[in-house]
Amino acid sequence: MGRKYRKPLIPEPIEVKLCEICYEEVELNRFYTLACGHGAMLECLKDYFLNLIGENKASKMTCIYPDCSIVPNDGELINIIGIDQYYRL
Ligand SMILES: [Zn+2]
Ligand SMILES: [Zn+2]
Repeated sequence: MGRKYRKPLIPEPIEVKLCEICYEEVELNRFYTLACGHGAMLECLKDYFLNLIGENKASKMTCIYPDCSIVPNDGELINIIGIDQYYRL
């Protein structure tokens, strides 16, 4: 029984981005970037848009950035809030 060779443990670098709504770092597969280039984690974006819909402000659904007035297109909305919610608009 000799000494076992141990591979040095190098953690895989995980690419993360900062959610601009809750300021948590999220992995890229949970992050959604809008056409304007701004993004946040998918759950936060969904909450954000569903809140607007709940307040009957669906016509004011713009980017999460207050000074960005880009309106997400239909495809983006479907990706974010889901097709069921989208058809309730
Ligand atoms: Zn977030
Ligand atoms: Zn934007």
